Amino acid sequence: MICTRTVFRCFKTLERWGNRITGAAGPYFIALAVFLIGSGILCFFDVIAPSLSFPIVTMPACILVAVNLVMHYFYVCTIRPGFLDEPPREAGTSFLWAQKRTKKGMLTGVRWSSGGIRITQATSTRCSRCNKIRQERAHHCRICNKCVLKYDHHCPTPGINQCVGLHNERHFVLFMVYLVISTFCFSALGYRQLFESLGVMSDDWHYNVPEVMYAMIYILSVVLCLAVGVMLAYHLWGISSGETSVEAQDHEEYRRKARDRGESFINSYNLGIWKNAQLFFNVWENGYPLYTLILPFRINPYTDGRSWARREGYDRHHGLRQGEELTDQEDDEDD
Ligand SMILES: [Zn+2]
Ligand SMILES: [Zn+2]
Repeated sequence: MICTRTVFRCFKTLERWGNRITGAAGPYFIALAVFLIGSGILCFFDVIAPSLSFPIVTMPACILVAVNLVMHYFYVCTIRPGFLDEPPREAGTSFLWAQKRTKKGMLTGVRWSSGGIRITQATSTRCSRCNKIRQERAHHCRICNKCVLKYDHHCPTPGINQCVGLHNERHFVLFMVYLVISTFCFSALGYRQLFESLGVMSDDWHYNVPEVMYAMIYILSVVLCLAVGVMLAYHLWGISSGETSVEAQDHEEYRRKARDRGESFINSYNLGIWKNAQLFFNVWENGYPLYTLILPFRINPYTDGRSWARREGYDRHHGLRQGEELTDQEDDEDD
């Protein structure tokens, strides 16, 4: 994709600016984010929800979306992305953890039985910044100053303000999914009440939340729906291609190099859209049940970050010569 690099650069610039601002006023931003999510939910259930038809179906659906939104936000803020020096994490036993369907066929460090999927040990290199041996797909985050397993990006969103990697990427994507669903529903179902709150249709405002609060939350919903929608589409594209945000950028460079030699680059983590999605969300055959996508349970990723599923017949990326792999160093020089 030609625009991947541009999109990635935009995100990186936004990320740096966001981090400067949120780093300075972290606790206030957490409070602000919680306040905005809370206000959105309050406005929806006070103003919009009572006007919906078939409340017996729509109300539970709306409550489910709101619970998912809050829980995935909480998870992505509190679950660490996974660092190099941490031991592999075991699944918890509390009620927040989903139960795995099957326990058979576990490989060392991999919680997902092969089920027709080939999983190989990760190769390692040394990080030039923290000087630690790190497994493939781990990258150094300059803001956290640590190497993160399956590093995607450092997220400066208020409250989150940490890296998105192996252990929280699933919650990050599901948080975006539920944020887009909820802001879309808010925008699509609440426009009549927006006119009422602005006094366009009538001056009769008979709800508990103030008109000005409703109008502001409505505008914010429209903006967030569009902005997060674009980010979500970018991430879903990456998931379907078996790439993290960093890899999407690197692979574009590899593709160009391979093309110059008359070869084609093949990403060895790309097992096809369906399998890539199964592995990312760790559901379906030998993974966790599908209900973990609509009920906000915690689950472990399919790997501990030291082994990776590979495309059949490829032990490494095709069309990439030894020594051509980009490192974080080159990534930094890019800025
Ligand atoms: Zn490092
Ligand atoms: Zn970070």
